[in-house]
Amino acid sequence: MNAGEGAVPATVLEVKNLKKHFAMKAGLWGSDYRTVKAVDGISFHISRGETLGLVGESGCGKTTVGRVITRIYEPTAGSVIFNGRDISHLSEQALFPTRRRMQMIFQDPYASLNPRMTVEEIVAEPMEVHLPLSANERRERVMELLELVRLSPEHATRFPHEFSGGQRQRIGVARALAAEPELIVCDEPISALDVSIQAQVVNMLQDLQERLGITYLFIAHDLSMVKHISNRVAVMYLGKIVELAPSVELYDRPLHPYTQALLSAIPIPDPDVEAERRRIILQGDVPSPIDPPSGCRFRTRCSRAMPACAETEPELKDAGGGHTVACLLHE
Ligand code: SF4
Repeated sequence: MNAGEGAVPATVLEVKNLKKHFAMKAGLWGSDYRTVKAVDGISFHISRGETLGLVGESGCGKTTVGRVITRIYEPTAGSVIFNGRDISHLSEQALFPTRRRMQMIFQDPYASLNPRMTVEEIVAEPMEVHLPLSANERRERVMELLELVRLSPEHATRFPHEFSGGQRQRIGVARALAAEPELIVCDEPISALDVSIQAQVVNMLQDLQERLGITYLFIAHDLSMVKHISNRVAVMYLGKIVELAPSVELYDRPLHPYTQALLSAIPIPDPDVEAERRRIILQGDVPSPIDPPSGCRFRTRCSRAMPACAETEPELKDAGGGHTVACLLHE
């Protein structure tokens, strides 16, 4: 829905038939190029204050989606509409006011924090670029942000190497919040953390969402990681979304064989139920996006593949209740 003049659109982000292809040299010496179809025609939207989980194995294109949305990469085709405005091909200058509204946090906070800057400098930097604040105002805001991410003001003068992984992720979140974003793309923000710390970071992100009304795209390689934070979840395979549903619906009634396999891999805390869990083992790796299988891209690993799956590429079809799935078994 697009709001009228002056109103805030209810849909923060809309992605339509988005593609990102990369040209890759075929050999060391030759001049031939092949096309890597990292993202190959995906569509979804995220409402204001919502969290959409985006899940898939490595190489499925989910990180590329995050980078195209935040315009680190320019899309090959399709559109990215942010607050009702198509930003897909805006020049860097035209994009500048929008940049602060879309921030990213990364899997490895250490690599994304400048080791020679203090925490105060790291968190203040986006404000220097985007907000007209005095040095004192910036300093006050840094202290507020540190408190918001549950770090203490004494941490402001320290350097990234003095912190644990979980604390470094909090610094990354404080920096992302500094420019007052509406959307944060969280690219595997908890994958590198100890299991005991993961829940703390997820709880903090949820708490910030409630207090500040932020919208998240939460990227992960494992369905268990997005379960508690996502309102809806999209499952990606080889550049395509194969299933998208409200979170509870997806975990209760997965329809796509790939989603069923990913869910079957999650251990269940109840020992009786866990004893009954039937694991679907996925054979092999994700095929190359340079030369994806014909028809359904999942067919080379699907235990329910039929001859028609090699001929016809399934499209996302409505399965009711906001649940869509791309599988010939559900046409
Ligand atoms: Fe499996 Fe065929 Fe469905 Fe693809 S379309 S997921 S190969 S059953």
